[in-house]
Amino acid sequence: MSTTRDTPDDSTYLARAWAARGARAPLAPLQIARRAPMPRDVQIEILYCGVCHSDLHYTHDDWHDTLPATYPAVPGHEVVGRVTAVGAEVTAHAVGDLVGVGCLVDSDRSCPICRAGRENFCPGQVLTYGSPDRHGTAPVTYGGYSSSVVVDEHFVLRVPRNLDLAGAAPLLCAGITTYSPLKRAGVGPGSKVGIVGLGGLGHMAVKLARAFGANVVVLTTSPRKADDARRLGAHEVIVSTDAAAMAAHAGSFDFILDTVSAEHDINSILALLKLDADLTLVGAPARPLALSSFALILGNRSVSGSAIGNIRETQEMLDFCGRHGITADVEVIPMQQVNEAWQRLERGEVKYRFVIDMASLKAD
Ligand code: NAP
Ligand code: ZN
Repeated sequence: MSTTRDTPDDSTYLARAWAARGARAPLAPLQIARRAPMPRDVQIEILYCGVCHSDLHYTHDDWHDTLPATYPAVPGHEVVGRVTAVGAEVTAHAVGDLVGVGCLVDSDRSCPICRAGRENFCPGQVLTYGSPDRHGTAPVTYGGYSSSVVVDEHFVLRVPRNLDLAGAAPLLCAGITTYSPLKRAGVGPGSKVGIVGLGGLGHMAVKLARAFGANVVVLTTSPRKADDARRLGAHEVIVSTDAAAMAAHAGSFDFILDTVSAEHDINSILALLKLDADLTLVGAPARPLALSSFALILGNRSVSGSAIGNIRETQEMLDFCGRHGITADVEVIPMQQVNEAWQRLERGEVKYRFVIDMASLKAD
């Protein structure tokens, strides 16, 4: 089937979604408008959507100064689903394909950054939720806590057929956000890599770093996660509040990836790096972290940041996960339990990603 239209406002349709009407309001059902597919669009029936801590940060307006929330807010950027219609000019996807959508649904496409294939840094990027909607279908884009979505084909990824679909959903954000910096840092056989925080991103980082062949060490504040960390692929676990254990590893890491969602002491973690080595932050706490100059100066160390990944490397990551059989460890929930799941995520009670089964929306 092929569905096309000429103008952006001559056709929309209604989709089911769950939305927050305010920073502290619970998520509740809402019907939202989606555009009917335009020539380069892919319409997707959403089957599963992961719950990322960014969904909470955004909806609670934690990032007010950088990415202020607009309500109603429909979160969700770890989407997998089945193609239900394509525009006449779509070549990369066909009806029936299993596909994914991550944090980006559009970008400028013609600026130097996009031409360099780095859409995730484009100043004109359109995030899956909370960005101004260029098509005027809604004030801002609405995310994947929804029955369907329409996305330009460039931002639609192929999901390897051998992967469990619920487990594959978190690859679209947690997977690429950890794959990209680990790859860029060149981790592999012979490198000692620290993963700070064993949550959604952290547990994907452990699996990926292990698949890259690195010596993987988890730094956690939760001693009860030690067995899981080893099962997920860690060679060693350090409880970061144990000063003696931290001191025993001083100056020994080639690279550290920090996935922590809240304020924490990065200076004691930086002391674990070798000379000249780097700690990359992907966690995005609401408030700035305190950084001691000496933690960097005394070892010629650096701190850097990393934002998701570009579209080409997201497909590369999915294909890598397909070859290695890597998916997230998920707890699948119906949408009706999403508010409880958010509370559990805030308390650190998830092993290790909640994923919403969109079939449950039919019960609303
Ligand atoms: P998550 O599942 O909640 O995991 C966060 C982990 O951080 C927790 O499991 C916990 O690990 C640790 N942690 C939490 N509070 C802590 C505290 N007060 N002190 C020390 N450690 C603490 O969250 P997520 O979905 O993985 O997301 C992690 C962060 O990455 C969020 O801030 C999110 O917004 C951000 N993010 C960034 C990007 C990007 O492009 N850069 C993309 C996606 C998400 P332990 O129990 O093991 O200590
Ligand atoms: Zn995310």
